[in-house]
Amino acid sequence: LTAKLSELRDLPAETIDGTPLRLSANIEFPHETTTCIERGADGIGLYRTEFLYLSSAEEPSEEDHYQAYSQVVREMEGRPVVIRTLDLGADKMGHRPLAEYEHNPFLGLRSIRLSLRNLDLFRPQLRAILRAAVHGDISVMFPLITTLAEFRQARMLLNVVAEDLKESGTPHRSNIPVGMMVEVPAAVMMLDRFVEEVDFLSIGTNDLAQYTLAVDRSNEYVADLYQSSDPAVLRLIARCVEVAKEHDCPLSICGEMSSNPARALLLMGMGVRHLSVPPSSLLRVKKAIRSVSIGQCEQIAERVMQLEAARDVDLYLLDRLGEYV
Ligand code: PEP
Ligand code: MG
Repeated sequence: LTAKLSELRDLPAETIDGTPLRLSANIEFPHETTTCIERGADGIGLYRTEFLYLSSAEEPSEEDHYQAYSQVVREMEGRPVVIRTLDLGADKMGHRPLAEYEHNPFLGLRSIRLSLRNLDLFRPQLRAILRAAVHGDISVMFPLITTLAEFRQARMLLNVVAEDLKESGTPHRSNIPVGMMVEVPAAVMMLDRFVEEVDFLSIGTNDLAQYTLAVDRSNEYVADLYQSSDPAVLRLIARCVEVAKEHDCPLSICGEMSSNPARALLLMGMGVRHLSVPPSSLLRVKKAIRSVSIGQCEQIAERVMQLEAARDVDLYLLDRLGEYV
């Protein structure tokens, strides 16, 4: 870290004319909270819990989950922590019989689909989340939600688990906020219904771009077609912002797109006020935000929304915000 950037830590993430941005961090391991605090994160906007599986030879127990989540929420000292439930499958394979061959793993039994079909996998995690919520500000978020039925099923399971904990007298908190990731175009199209049931939304631009553009994000043959700045993706994001605003539903963006400072400014201009970025991007994004007015961001967004190709968007951002790209 340069001295200049570290001075930024305690300064607010806001534009020069005072429009605030909530700037949270994405983590995969509990020890990353140290860096998040060092770099002034407002909270954890995405805790990718599947790394508990990927980093150990054994399947984690409820206690392993509980210890990890408790550590994270304690170390964040009251700042909000959003725990995303298991997003296994496709690019994140565990051991387990889950790793069966699939022709199209990204369209297969991954993420929330896999959790809902393996309750012995899902239930311990949900129990651990509700138990750890006693120690701080925890929310739970379900990944890859595609239909309303899926969200309802996941939420119902959370309620059942809360009842069990209550009956057995296990310390827990049952009234935690329940949100969903918006990363499938179908969910965007139905978002006006989802917002009536969810407590918050977080857009996963990595998967949203993949499913919108029909490009496997891990396939090098089509890597050039995978562009989160594609106008089709931007239009979907714009629609989310609009629906969330109409319904007063908190919305953040946690895909990698917002770790690029120029794209973060574009998202700000589109009305987004909460980003969650990798810890390594926190200060760079904050620095960029602190150097522009909200009017500039809005002007850039307005122009970008008229463009027709990812390449045009990127070139325009390079031209206007080259120092941040
Ligand atoms: C995303 O899809 O944008 C996201 C944040 O989730 P992941 O990259 O873990 O799939
Ligand atoms: Mg995703």
